[in-house]
This record gives sequence, structure tokens and C-alpha cells, in this order.
Amino acid sequence: MSSVLKGYLKAAKNIFFPSLCFSCEKKISGEYLCPKCKEKIEFLHPPLCRFCSNPINPAPARRGWINNNEVGRCEECLGKPLTYQRVICVTAYKEPLVGLIHLFKYKNYDYLAGPLSLLMANYLTTIELNLSGYHFIVPVPIHPYTLKTRGYNQTALLGKNLANYFKIPFRDDIIVERIYKKSQTNLNKQEREKNIKGVFTAKKNLKDRRIILIDDIFTTGATLRECASVLKNNGASNITAITLSKTPEHHNAN
Ligand SMILES: [Zn+2]
Ligand SMILES: [Zn+2]
Repeated sequence: MSSVLKGYLKAAKNIFFPSLCFSCEKKISGEYLCPKCKEKIEFLHPPLCRFCSNPINPAPARRGWINNNEVGRCEECLGKPLTYQRVICVTAYKEPLVGLIHLFKYKNYDYLAGPLSLLMANYLTTIELNLSGYHFIVPVPIHPYTLKTRGYNQTALLGKNLANYFKIPFRDDIIVERIYKKSQTNLNKQEREKNIKGVFTAKKNLKDRRIILIDDIFTTGATLRECASVLKNNGASNITAITLSKTPEHHNAN
């Protein structure tokens, strides 16, 4: 290999794997977080409400719990009209992920999609979620204007990687955000619900399609409920939502 090429490859490696931990900035090699920061990532464990992933208190979870359609709902979700079958949130929205997701979403670190989607894929494998029988992986869309200014839809990057990993077709042409909404960041639960109403539209007939819907952060669930109801109104028969992270109750993500 020529020294020029070697130099180029080294430079490329440093771009993709900078030698500092993204969280504590300690020197590391070939990773995105140092082992200590990586250990701090908090994965969510059952028993959890199947519609919001808040902890619940029923019988201890058994193997295969995630594929059981009868697992419980928390008090807040009982009796609510629910548009998706279940949500699976992979991690708690705490450091080091708060910082990482911020870089991923707002600071052009789109290549963090690699390690972040791998976290998700490993978790889904560990909990033995049965993904066979799903027709598409669909990301929560962003408005074309946001896409133009940000350059990428971070949720679509996660979805695409998961689709490759689990060999399920990826489709980002099924739902679009047709109305430019204001940011949900500083809105409360009711305001979020109102702000998101009617902004999505589905472009395909989805009769009897089983869909995995991907989002980055679950806050109040308003976005997922709205997307799922659009998919359902277009015929989708089963929607499982998967998100990278979940905020603690009554806490807004930015
Ligand atoms: Zn670190
Ligand atoms: Zn719940």
C-alpha cells in the first residue's frame, strides 16, 4: 500500500473514529465512547408499559416477554385509544446519550448513526424481539425544510441501519411531514399533541402491512401516536414502534 493511501486511510479513520471519547474527551482508540462512559448507558429493562415504556409492576418478565401481546400497560395508558401495538424504547435518555444524541441530531455528527443503531440492534437481539413478518421499517419523517437545513434525517439513518441489520425493507417514502410544525422541545404534553396533529400524511395503500416505526426519542409519545394513526388509517394492520431513547416522565428532550 502506498504511503499516500496509508495516510489517507489513517485520516479517514480519525474522522470516523476520533481518538477522544465523545462524552468525557478522554483519549481512546477506535471507539466513540471510552469504556467507562459506555458502561453508563442505561438500557431499559422489563417490566415496562407496552405503550410508553414506563416501569410497571406486574409479574416478573419471562423470556420472550416482548413478543407477548398481553403484557401490561401503566395506569396512564389504560383506556387510552392506542394506535400502535407496542413501543420498545432501548435506553434511558441520560448521559452519555443526551450529549451524543444532541451531536447526532443538531451538530452534523451523522456518522454516530453507526454506533447508535448498533446499540439498538444488539438490544433488540437480546430481548429476542421477533422481527419476522414485518414488511417495512419506516422512520418518523422530518419536514423537507428541516431535511434541507440539517442535511439528513437522523431517524432515517437509524432506520436504514436497522433495516440492513435485520434484512427488512426500509421505506422513507411512506409517510411525509407535510406541515412545518414548530419545535416540540418546549411544549407540554397537551401542546405537543395539538402541535403534531395532522402534520403527517401517508402516501401509500398499506393494507395489511406490518410496520416497524422508528424514532430517536420517546418523550410523550405524541409523534409516534400521530404517525401510527396515519399508517393505520391507510390500512396498516400492525405497528411496532422502536425508539433509541426515552426521557424520564415529565421531562422534555431537546
Ligand atoms: Zn468517556
Ligand atoms: Zn404507559
